[in-house]
Amino acid sequence: MSLLVLGTVAFDAIETPFGKTERVIGGAATYISLAASFFRTPIYLVSIVGDDFPQAFLDELQARGIDTGGVQVVQGEKSFFWSGRYHNDLNTRDTLDTQLNVLTKFTGEIPPAYQNAEYVMLGNLDPKLQLKGLESVSRKPKLAVMDTMNLWLDIARPAVEEVLAKVDVLSINDEEARQLTGEYSLVTAARKILAMGPEYVVIKKGEHGALLFHQDEVFVAPALPLEQVFDPTGAGDCFAGGFIGYLAESGDVTYENLKSAVMFGSVMASFCVEKFGPERLLEIDSNDIQQRLKQFLSLMRVSAEMPPR
Ligand code: AMP
Repeated sequence: MSLLVLGTVAFDAIETPFGKTERVIGGAATYISLAASFFRTPIYLVSIVGDDFPQAFLDELQARGIDTGGVQVVQGEKSFFWSGRYHNDLNTRDTLDTQLNVLTKFTGEIPPAYQNAEYVMLGNLDPKLQLKGLESVSRKPKLAVMDTMNLWLDIARPAVEEVLAKVDVLSINDEEARQLTGEYSLVTAARKILAMGPEYVVIKKGEHGALLFHQDEVFVAPALPLEQVFDPTGAGDCFAGGFIGYLAESGDVTYENLKSAVMFGSVMASFCVEKFGPERLLEIDSNDIQQRLKQFLSLMRVSAEMPPR
């Protein structure tokens, strides 16, 4: 079933303890749509770039089944640019620079041909644009998922809360969940978020996996202990892309299937961090995904019994 992805397509400059890039292709919607494309569902990408963005990369996305007709290219403008530096633990980072550039011209308007999308992924973006995108969809989507970040919680919290009340799933990291609710306990934070509207909340904990909350239930997915984490940029977006790409392809939005989706999200995030930018996602195929899924599932297989007295 069709999946609409709204978010940034951008250039990033990244510094990790292992290296530095001055300019690599990034953007939340780039990672989301690439990760989702492995699940073969039709993807409609809505974003905006300047005339500095390589057409060859848009062609690459198109060749992977991502409809890039909704990516506006604005002549005489520069693409969105973000720069970040990771701390040694690789779970935390500082934003060094955010240049909105062409993003100031983005309206979040969804082209008519995409307005019948059944699944909607609102990538990290100004919540007013997320709202506009969601409201442009002609009928209530089967599932709408949103992501956000500390910046929007700092400068546009009421709008974040307005979107939150209208989506089915919030995908957020642990620090953001604490910032949104003022609660340290992630269980309490999740309960408060569920009371704000969504039926599900996924809290991502970087190298410690992810938690899916629904009513009084919680599902815990591990992260794969990887020997080398090279660049965590986009991991959260790849998680979201794998999660919703799998759900859109299967057409099943039950809690049981959302648990499987969390596993696919984790698998896609684990590939993303192995190289700079989206590079690793461009190398893998569905066999790699299958193999890694097996590795993840074997991490969760266990039997235990109280020894007899
Ligand atoms: P993640 O590591 O999953 O949080 O996503 C990183 C991506 O988000 C980068 O490729 C950035 O280009 C993009 N990004 C960073 N800041 C923003 C922002 N304020 N709005 C939209 N996208 C952003």
